[in-house]
Amino acid sequence: MKARTKAQRLLLEYSDSLGEITKDQVKYAFDKCFTKTGYRTKTKGTGCLECGHVWQLSAEITACKCPNCKAKITIEDTTKKKSDQGKKYFSVLETSGDMQIVRIYELQKWCEVGHKARIHIWEVVQQFFRPGEMMQVVARCRTTSFNIDSFGGQLECRKIHHTYRSDFNKYDIWTDVTYPKIEVLPIYERNGYSPLVEGISHYLTMQAILRDCKAETLLKSNQIGLLACRVGNRSHKVEEYWNSIKICIRNKYNVGDEEVITWLDYLDMIAKDKKDLHSPKWVCPPNLKEIHAKKVAKKQMEAELGHLWYKYCDLVRYFNEPTEPTFKGKLISLKLEVKRLTASKREIERRLTIERKEQAAMKVREVEQQFMDRIASYKDLAFKKGNITIVALRSIDDFFEESQALKHCVFSNEYYAKKDSLILSARIKDERIETIEVSLTDFKVIQSRGKYNSPSAHNSDIVALIKKNLPAIRKVYKESRRVAA
Ligand SMILES: [Zn+2]
Repeated sequence: MKARTKAQRLLLEYSDSLGEITKDQVKYAFDKCFTKTGYRTKTKGTGCLECGHVWQLSAEITACKCPNCKAKITIEDTTKKKSDQGKKYFSVLETSGDMQIVRIYELQKWCEVGHKARIHIWEVVQQFFRPGEMMQVVARCRTTSFNIDSFGGQLECRKIHHTYRSDFNKYDIWTDVTYPKIEVLPIYERNGYSPLVEGISHYLTMQAILRDCKAETLLKSNQIGLLACRVGNRSHKVEEYWNSIKICIRNKYNVGDEEVITWLDYLDMIAKDKKDLHSPKWVCPPNLKEIHAKKVAKKQMEAELGHLWYKYCDLVRYFNEPTEPTFKGKLISLKLEVKRLTASKREIERRLTIERKEQAAMKVREVEQQFMDRIASYKDLAFKKGNITIVALRSIDDFFEESQALKHCVFSNEYYAKKDSLILSARIKDERIETIEVSLTDFKVIQSRGKYNSPSAHNSDIVALIKKNLPAIRKVYKESRRVAA
């Protein structure tokens, strides 16, 4: 964006008047933003990622001076890693007249074993603001999306677009390191602004300490982590626990900026447990991480207890115990009780399954016996014409083989259980050709089916042959009825 308005031309004048970054500042930026490392492998020695020098170093040394470039490096043991790269932001605070200026630099470093490290630094954002006013920026264009975050183009006046979050300003970078020799307007100095403020937005913090006495208090008492929460997206938590925070300040208990989320989380938990949030005993734990871990474990145990209780109630219902679940005891005994009940439930179910299977088998045997009794009279029936023979299916196995050979449902649909049908099989030599169902109530052919339920080439011959012999079937049927009676 070219300077169009008077204000924009003025802004560019400010920008042009700023000096270049000094050698000292560049050295400070890289020294503080990146750790110097050496990679040690078992076979190829140790490589300094600063200068590329490779040498032999005994296994127990974890930090040393590189014999070539004299850089103090920490040693990392690795099998595969050969390179590393990183990006950081560094800021320098200056003033010009009544204007506060925050200059933000992007730093990049590429390291590879066997090569000298490559570095790049350029200024990407200049913020200009007066106390209590919106910032104006001269910046390179910042592109942010799901996996891209980069600067490009020239330093120009940029509009501050408020995009997906109404309070998100893409030209307000929260820098990793600030150059310690800072220039701030007297009003900020009076309110306690100091180079200690790192890893948070200078702009938001400076504006906050003018209008928000809580932010100012946090800054002056060096509660930088809580200050970051206050000017960031946990402002409501600082509000909620302000009385506890005052206890911390009074007791000189510093909530470290890396632990601040843990501390707020911990406060949420003890608040639920109805602990006294005004007591240093509770809000200033000397071993925050440990006590937080204990609280988390307790919470987990309660969740587990709830789950077990639910299972236990289910089991009690399963065994039809008349009253409400009566168990009272600790987690461990509840666990044992649930285990015991689950085991007996499983045993009961195992027995039930066996019983069900036995009943099913008994039913099959019964049906089979009835069929064998019925079919006995038809065993000697056989009709022949040419090479076709028709006989009754004589056993359940016979039904099974018939349905296997002709791929139809005479077995699976239990035709052997039909008391008013006679099932016959038409064969040429030993080959099964069609299956015939004859009604034993009106002595008619109900169906005659070949492979896949379709008629075979011999269908009309087979039907003619069976029709001709229906009187013979009827005679056997009547005979069997007479014997049974
Ligand atoms: Zn080196």
